Amino acid sequence: MTTTTAEQRLPRLERADAWARLAEGGGPSLTVSSPWASGDDAVLGEVATTPAARIGAIVESAREAQREWAEVPVRARAAILRRVGALARERREALMDVVQLESGKNRLSAFEEVMDVALNAAYYARAGRAALRPRRHSGATPVLTSTVEHHRPKGVVGIITPWNYPLTLAVSDALPALMAGNAVVLKPDSRTPLTALAGLELVRDAGLPAGLMRVVVGAGSEIGPPLVDAVDYLMFTGSTATGRVLAGACGERLIGCSMELGGKNPMLVLADADVERAAAGAVRACFSNSGQLCVSIERIYVADEVYDAFVAAFVRRVQAMSLGAGLDWDIDMGSLASRQQLDAVGAHVTDAVAKGATVLVGGRARPDLGPCMYEPTVLADVTEDMRLAREETFGPVVSVYRVGSDEEAIARANDSSYGLNASVWSARRGSEAAARVQAGTVNVNEGYAAAWGSTGAPMGGWRDSGLGRRHGVEGILKYTEAQTIAVQRGIGIAPVGSMTAARYAEVMNAAVGLVARMPRRR
Ligand code: NAD
Repeated sequence: MTTTTAEQRLPRLERADAWARLAEGGGPSLTVSSPWASGDDAVLGEVATTPAARIGAIVESAREAQREWAEVPVRARAAILRRVGALARERREALMDVVQLESGKNRLSAFEEVMDVALNAAYYARAGRAALRPRRHSGATPVLTSTVEHHRPKGVVGIITPWNYPLTLAVSDALPALMAGNAVVLKPDSRTPLTALAGLELVRDAGLPAGLMRVVVGAGSEIGPPLVDAVDYLMFTGSTATGRVLAGACGERLIGCSMELGGKNPMLVLADADVERAAAGAVRACFSNSGQLCVSIERIYVADEVYDAFVAAFVRRVQAMSLGAGLDWDIDMGSLASRQQLDAVGAHVTDAVAKGATVLVGGRARPDLGPCMYEPTVLADVTEDMRLAREETFGPVVSVYRVGSDEEAIARANDSSYGLNASVWSARRGSEAAARVQAGTVNVNEGYAAAWGSTGAPMGGWRDSGLGRRHGVEGILKYTEAQTIAVQRGIGIAPVGSMTAARYAEVMNAAVGLVARMPRRR
């Protein structure tokens, strides 16, 4: 592994103070620090927190702004989204800087965030218009009933996000909510508020009217509950534990929610896979964003026939990775996002090794490179009694397992309480195996980016990995209430004139039979 240390003094974020002023403040200040340094050297800026008591009023004022926004033609909203995408690409260097400095990731992972915003902006500007268009349906009585389905905005959407993809998860999920005519109140993780505020500046500069998107700052346990109490829909991304609590709170209020939660994502390397391609793909799938990716791979099931060759190729590639803290493009893997994350990853590996796991590569923290650095780590001989066998590590740690058949690989991949993402490597049987894997997205001959980047198709989790979907038509219609308006002309839906109820029932019965036999419109 080649390595790079963070510069002694971190680059200054020129706009940190300007971004901080965009927060809904009023409470004590929060010091934002970079995981690339320690103490005073790490400080990136100060952001005022939002007192819990202000949250209700902020949501109310967003609701007022939303009433006007709902009247803005969908075409005009789409034009703003297009400008968000263009501006994100134009400002990519500054956005990548803040994402990297706040979260510690390498530049390529930060670039993926900016591109995700640009892709979603372009997709929802185009597909959002079609999805929101009123749809005519055949009415209760042919000719006499004219029925149209509409989609009305929910009102104010609360978005609560974690620290791992601080730009993507804040902005990309807000865009369809705004496109659908809602206001957004965003609560980013307290470790990454500057990125969220840079995202707010981006959408405002692209023309989003003032007041429609607000960023509140503070601890989830303090300002999360009043936010969930006040909004009309909740889009949550984070841990399964928090997701369960918040889904319960939404259930109490009978508001809708989308829960994008954790995973313990499997990769299957079948006997006919191209081993070198699979090994290169595994590096991307396991170690992008230092493994702090909800869709990253933490378990690899490899067919016996190719196990030795795959493991050798994978380990060789991991050994060749460059590791470090810095804004250069040539660093393959950056830091973990916090000491808390470093401790959690270290604890999983220590527990596994104590119970007999073999470290094939990595397995150590690297304080010489930065306070939160951990090596990309591949483990073998992982058994059920080890915590990381089933728990999400959310770091650069993956276990490899030898399997005897496709059947066994699929069965073991599915033996998890999660079902977020999966990856299958095979020359010929990829799609067939993928169809039998129980996960919201399955990538064939890629790790996660093929499905994630397909913004037109839904993305989300089965089982403990969540509820609801982002991307695709579902990713925008969830932010709307469906409303059916049916206009009845001429006669009512009742016996006409002197017709008896019994006769009416006979006529209707025959009519429904006729309708049932009518050829379906394609
Ligand atoms: P977390 O649940 O601890 O925190 C996520 C957000 O929720 C933060 O903003 C936090 O402040 C807030 N929060 C915490 N407690 C709250 C409460 N009681 N009320 C309201 N808000 C509260 O998650 P984390 O550990 O910081 O993030 C990592 C997790 O996120 C991993 O499990 C990862 O898999 C998951 N994740 C999922 C996806 C996805 O798309 N499925 C994407 C990224 C991350």
